[in-house]
Amino acid sequence: MSFDQIAQWVDQAIEQTPVLDLHTHLYPPSFGGFNLWGVDELLTYHYLIAETIRATDIPYDKYWSMTQQQQADLIWKTLFIDRAPISEACRGVLTTLGKLGLDLSSRDLNSYRAFFKSQKPEAYLETVLKLANVRQIVMTNDALDPKEREIWLSGKPIDARFKAVLRIDPVLVGWPKVSETLSSFGYKTSGDLGSTTMSEVRRFLNEWIERMKAIYVACSLTPDWRYPDDSQTTRVINEAILPICRERNIPFAVMIGVQRQVNPQLRLAGDSVGKSDIKSLDRLCATNQKNKFMVTMLARENQHELAVTARKHRNLFLFGCWWFLNNPSLIEEMTKMRMELLGTSFTPQHSDARVLDQLIYKWDHSRKVIAKVMKEKFADLEKTGWKVTREEIDRTAKEYLGGNFERFLSLTPS
Ligand SMILES: [Zn+2]
Repeated sequence: MSFDQIAQWVDQAIEQTPVLDLHTHLYPPSFGGFNLWGVDELLTYHYLIAETIRATDIPYDKYWSMTQQQQADLIWKTLFIDRAPISEACRGVLTTLGKLGLDLSSRDLNSYRAFFKSQKPEAYLETVLKLANVRQIVMTNDALDPKEREIWLSGKPIDARFKAVLRIDPVLVGWPKVSETLSSFGYKTSGDLGSTTMSEVRRFLNEWIERMKAIYVACSLTPDWRYPDDSQTTRVINEAILPICRERNIPFAVMIGVQRQVNPQLRLAGDSVGKSDIKSLDRLCATNQKNKFMVTMLARENQHELAVTARKHRNLFLFGCWWFLNNPSLIEEMTKMRMELLGTSFTPQHSDARVLDQLIYKWDHSRKVIAKVMKEKFADLEKTGWKVTREEIDRTAKEYLGGNFERFLSLTPS
């Protein structure tokens, strides 16, 4: 087959295959204020807050005392008008507005605002899903957030395209303080993590996985996470999370490498990155072979050893280019290396979108990089004398954009 033909097949397959986005921070419109969308939300994304504050000498307090619209005005002026919007987060806003049909040549923020004002959340969701070609959105759900709890407890039906994930960071790393929160919701817990408390933590997990129909349990971990050790985190993993995940045959997702609040004045934008300990992950997978683990790591420095580690443990599912790695140059490098080490058995990307509209740019940009790498790899195959077929290109695109993940969910480790 000609290389041009292969390239065309890859482009079509990647563009036309709808995505299962396995990690986002999005919510359906029925969650009211949790569903973030529109140009002011896009502009006040924490990536852009960090870039703006860096480019100005505005006092932190002054920035945080502004209304969201004032913040968006400042970000627009600082990063898009006074400077070229060349960073990935800035380009993302422009790709999104452009794909929505807005006139980028006007640079007129207020006209963009008027467009969003005329949209209704339910219809706008359809517009975004269509433009982004996304079929399923996996959320990140916090059962300890009083407002979010209320929505789940109300039992209102949820748009079937949104799947829940029970995010449990405080239950894992927040002892003894999280005991007070759990107690306030009726669990008989104390900070010492005795046997009653541990069984109440299991009850909490069971009840909420059930209520949300959570498809996995997730947490993010700092670079200093070690497993096993004599910490409360290891105990909660071994005595609560892993047994429950095994019983229910759902994965435990660990996102490793976030350095919390290196600059607290930046608030949500104040987290950073650090290199993590791959040996801990090796031990987690090796000593708990009946559990399934989904893993992504934040440091570029961890990526090669992570891909190698995934080769060693079939109960480890590697996914995505997370947060500071979600940049075309790094996605390309990582996707290439993962294809070379893992073939078709991983998920190259998730969006991590916090604002609905971000699905448009995150998938547009990532699809292009994934397609670029796939073209190279299939052309290399053709050069060996193997006759590449359209079917295997289509199948590979489906695997990368969600099929692999669905298969991993359905597996029972033995
Ligand atoms: Zn995330």
